[in-house]
Amino acid sequence: MTIALARRYRPRRFADLVVQDHVAAALRGAVAKGRVGHGYLLTGPRGVGKTTAARILAMALNCEARAADGEPCGECSSCLKIWNGSADLDVVEIDAASNRGVDDARDLRERAMYAASQAGHHKVYIVDEAHMLTREAWNVLLKILEEPPPGVVFVFATTEPQKIANTAAPVMSRLQRFDFRRIGPVAIHNRLRQVLTAEKLDAEDDALRLIARHADGGMRDALSVLDQCLSFGEGILTAARVRQALGLMDNEEYGALLAAIADRQPAQVFAVMGRVADAGADLAEFAGGLGELLRALVMHHYGAEPEGLPESTRALIAEMAPRLGPEDAVRMLKLLGDAEAAIGRSANPRIVLETLLLRWAMMDRAVDLRAILAGGAPLPVAPGKPIPQVAAVSRESQPPAKSAPGGRPAPTVAPPAHPSVAPGLTAHGSRLTEAVLASAWSEVIATASRQSPLLGQALTHATSHVVDAGTVALVFGPDSALFHDGVARQLAVMETILAAALGRPIKVKLQSASAAPAAAERKPKRLSVEEARSERLTRLRSKDPALDAAANALDLELVDDD
Ligand SMILES: [Zn+2]
Repeated sequence: MTIALARRYRPRRFADLVVQDHVAAALRGAVAKGRVGHGYLLTGPRGVGKTTAARILAMALNCEARAADGEPCGECSSCLKIWNGSADLDVVEIDAASNRGVDDARDLRERAMYAASQAGHHKVYIVDEAHMLTREAWNVLLKILEEPPPGVVFVFATTEPQKIANTAAPVMSRLQRFDFRRIGPVAIHNRLRQVLTAEKLDAEDDALRLIARHADGGMRDALSVLDQCLSFGEGILTAARVRQALGLMDNEEYGALLAAIADRQPAQVFAVMGRVADAGADLAEFAGGLGELLRALVMHHYGAEPEGLPESTRALIAEMAPRLGPEDAVRMLKLLGDAEAAIGRSANPRIVLETLLLRWAMMDRAVDLRAILAGGAPLPVAPGKPIPQVAAVSRESQPPAKSAPGGRPAPTVAPPAHPSVAPGLTAHGSRLTEAVLASAWSEVIATASRQSPLLGQALTHATSHVVDAGTVALVFGPDSALFHDGVARQLAVMETILAAALGRPIKVKLQSASAAPAAAERKPKRLSVEEARSERLTRLRSKDPALDAAANALDLELVDDD
């Protein structure tokens, strides 16, 4: 698969714009009647087709074989050039994020004054991320929009129209605005199925439902994830492989967890969390999955259902509904909402999540863990309370989960060989040395894992070293070719992540260990599991005396044995 699916299946005609029929019909009609405006504003969430629609409009305006209804042919040399985004005299794409100033706008205005390259052609300027333009840049553009040269069309695309309204209200009144809709999971699912059929590939329905829900309204993201899942395996695409690729846990773990909560069995929380951590799952993603389940559970109690739920999830909700009432689920959602940001931020998300789950399991009990964590009060361990039992059970690494439905398959994902922890320091403003890189490396892995669990996992198979002030090399061993290739496909993402972590622009070079003997001799900048655990616990506990007390009382240290 050489061309990414998201690119290969990008629409070439207005009719192919999934869900955005209202926009497609209006633009196609304007082209057919020769009534295309001089300025358009396309708004909507990312990945719903705004830039694609702009390109199709440009194709339609300059197509050599346009249909009477306004559709471009998609095949002529002009159409192909525009669709590919290759250099074209008449269609210019500008990323406002990097060309946001007044000089860029002046340059644009001067260029717009020249007529199109051929009679009958239009000059189309597609400005992406338009909300990034400065007020001064908009003022320059306003002059063109007030007296547009013939044959010039500006298309502005943005996810944040409110920002444009704030900085450039007069411009808004000069633009025809189209609001793109979020693409629902069912529409995404159907489109993924079409693409797979065209590729002569097959997938389980639940696999596509998981991808569609994960993509959260963005078609491009859905196709990218599909690509990723396909490239890391062969044969029919299963829900299990998608879960593995996205770091999602399977419903049996969610079921075991909710059953433990419903049965007020805090001890089971540790067992489930142990398996979740062993599977290398992304904990923020796991918490998000719990939130979705609880929301679906509340809806179920009121006779509704979220769109596009996988079959197994539906069964789980029906099973849990008699055991967890809507009030319980709403209270749990509230606690989850309070903890969610901390899960994403914390150096030790597992403890934050575990604490949340314990609170769920103890919700109706006398032990008010909330007071302990908020105020540092001593943990009340009254006779008959579950705490001593928690500590006792947690000493065994895998207590039998009697409340789990059915047999549980072994985790399908091998735990990363070298888990990392977030560094104590950030490197901003200092010289790029090996030490600086080393201290940022675990943060890099954490960020990468949030973007793509597979990318994060691939990085744990790499060692990093500084080549020069602006270049970092990632070295993969001979048995890590798959991970090398995985990272190679995400080089731009890697450079962004490293730039953010190191506070400077970074180029990433990939190397194989055999090709870089010097690098292989360096000490890998990875922490052993033991070092990582003791370091993060010590740091966490020294920062937060309340957690220290809770950790002592709950014996979290012993639980943390993966
Ligand atoms: Zn054409």
